[in-house]
Amino acid sequence: MEFCPKCGGLMVPAVVNGKKVLKCQSCGYVKEPANPGRAYRVEEKIERHPLDKVVVFDVDVATLPVVQFKCENCGNDKAYVYEVQTRAGDEPATRFYICTKCRKVYREYA
Ligand SMILES: [Zn+2]
Ligand SMILES: [Zn+2]
Repeated sequence: MEFCPKCGGLMVPAVVNGKKVLKCQSCGYVKEPANPGRAYRVEEKIERHPLDKVVVFDVDVATLPVVQFKCENCGNDKAYVYEVQTRAGDEPATRFYICTKCRKVYREYA
């Protein structure tokens, strides 16, 4: 949960110009999550498990390791790697790759 740096209001996910951002409920302040080093909200639909609708996690990409990864979207060859436990502990963690350039999210089951 995040709060507005201007007025302290609750920041809620919103879509502005096709981009996912956080927007203050009170004053309308918009935080651009695409800025490098800022917290970045990732939403990924899970098709394989219908019961899991959306995985949402907040991650500060500046703290993530960067690995060699070919991005099909922009041709970049580096991505942040992030592991998240989306299910009960009896299933392996899901690994996400986030392109360092265009921020496209790729999912890989470990
Ligand atoms: Zn505000
Ligand atoms: Zn890319």
